[in-house]
Amino acid sequence: MDFELSEEQKSILDTADRIAKKYDRAYWLECAKAKRFTSELWDELGKAGYLGITVPEEYGGAGLGMFELSLLQERLAEHGVAVLFFVVNQGLSIPALVRHGTDEQKSRLLPAIASGEKRFCFAITEPNAGTNTFKIESMAKRDGDDYILNGNKLFISGINQAHHVLVVARTQSYQEVGGQTQRKEGLSLFIVDTDSKGLSYKPMDTMLLNPEGQFFVYFDNVRIPKENLLGKEGKGVRVLFDGLNPERIMAAAMACGSGRWMIRRAVEYANQRVIFDKPIGTYQALQHPLAESMALIEVGSLMTRKAAWLQDRGDMGAGEASNMAKLVAADASLKASNAALQCFGGYGFTESQDMLSSFIGARLGTVAPINREMILNFIGEHTLGMPKSY
Ligand SMILES: Cc1cc2nc3c(=O)[nH]c(=O)nc-3n(C[C@H](O)[C@H](O)[C@H](O)COP(=O)(O)OP(=O)(O)OC[C@H]3O[C@@H](n4cnc5c(N)ncnc54)[C@H](O)[C@@H]3O)c2cc1C
Repeated sequence: MDFELSEEQKSILDTADRIAKKYDRAYWLECAKAKRFTSELWDELGKAGYLGITVPEEYGGAGLGMFELSLLQERLAEHGVAVLFFVVNQGLSIPALVRHGTDEQKSRLLPAIASGEKRFCFAITEPNAGTNTFKIESMAKRDGDDYILNGNKLFISGINQAHHVLVVARTQSYQEVGGQTQRKEGLSLFIVDTDSKGLSYKPMDTMLLNPEGQFFVYFDNVRIPKENLLGKEGKGVRVLFDGLNPERIMAAAMACGSGRWMIRRAVEYANQRVIFDKPIGTYQALQHPLAESMALIEVGSLMTRKAAWLQDRGDMGAGEASNMAKLVAADASLKASNAALQCFGGYGFTESQDMLSSFIGARLGTVAPINREMILNFIGEHTLGMPKSY
C-alpha cells in the first residue's frame, strides 16, 4: 500500500496553505461574524481551479476526485478556515449532478459551478421529518411542463449565498407509495433557482459561528421547469445516496482539519502559559488528551482518505467507509477541541481567544450532516448484519 501523495496532490496542499495564509482565520472570522459570504476566498479558490476540482474536464473542471477535494478541505480547515459550501456544493451537489444530470443540465450548470459563478445549497431537512427523511412532506406536483412545489424546510445552510438549491421533495406522498415498506419510492430531487417566485427564507437563530448561516425556507407554489428534475421522478433516493457519501467525506475532512487547528492553537498556548512556575503544557493532564486526540485525528484522516479513494473508484464499499470516516473524524475532532479548550482555562471562553466557537463547530459534527446514532445504526445493520431498531 502506497501512502505517498502525487506531485499534483502535494501541490494542492501547498496552494491551500498559500490561500489560507492570505484569507486566514481572521478573515474567516470577520465574515462569520458579519454572516458575509467569503467571496474573496471563493474567488481565489476559483482562480486556482479548485472550485471545479471534481467537475469533469469537458465541463471546465479539473477532472480530479474526492481524494483531492478532501485533501483541500482538510488543509484549509487546518488553518481555521472551514468551508461549509465545500460540503453542500462541491461535496453533495456536484457528484449528484455529474452522475445523474442530463447532458443539458451538466452543460448548463457544471461550467458555472467550476468557475465559481454559481453555487448550490442543499435542502432536505423538515420540521416534522427530522432524521427520518422519508417522512418529508414537501410536495412537487406535475403541472404541464412544470412541477409546482409547496413545503417548508429548515436549517438550510447558506441559501442566501447560493444561486440554486437542490431540493428533496415528494412527488408521491408517503401514504400514496404505501407507507413504511415502500418509503424509498416517490422522492425526487429538483434544481431550484433561489430567486424563484414563491421561494422565501428567513434566518434561524443557530449559535454556530460560520459565514453561511442557517435558514427556514418556504416554497409557496414554486414553479420548476421539468428540465430541472435531477434523475428520474420518484427515484430520487439513488441520486440522494450518490451525493450523501461525498458529503460525509467532506464533513469528515473538515472535522479532521479543524481538530488539527484546535490542537495546534492549544499547543502554542500551553507551551507559553506559565502556572506553578512551569508551562502548563508540561502537565500531562493537558498533554496526554492532546496527544491522544492527535492520534485519533490521524486515524480519522486516514479513514477519510480511504473513503474518498473508494468513492473515486466507484466501489460499493464507499458507503460504509464514508460513514465510518465521518464517525471517527467527528468524534476525534470533538475530543481534540475539548482537550484544546481545557488548556485555555477561563480564557477559552473569551471571544478574543476564539476557541469556543470551534468547540461548538466540532460538537455539531456529531449531529449534522448526519448524527452519529444513524451512522452506528448503518454500521450495525449493514456491516455487522444486526436487526434494525427503528
Ligand atoms: C448548523 C446546521 C447546519 C445544517 N445544514 C443543513 C443543510 O444545509 N441542509 C439540510 O437539509 N439540513 C441541514 N441541517 C439539518 C441537520 O441535517 C439535521 O438537524 C439533522 O439531520 C437531524 O435532524 P433533527 O435536527 O430534526 O433531529 P431529530 O431527527 O429530531 O433527531 C434528534 C436526535 O435523535 C436521535 N435519533 C433520531 N433518530 C434516531 C434513530 N433511529 N436511532 C437513534 N437515534 C436517533 C439522534 O441522536 C438525533 O441527534 C443542519 C443542521 C445544523 C444544526
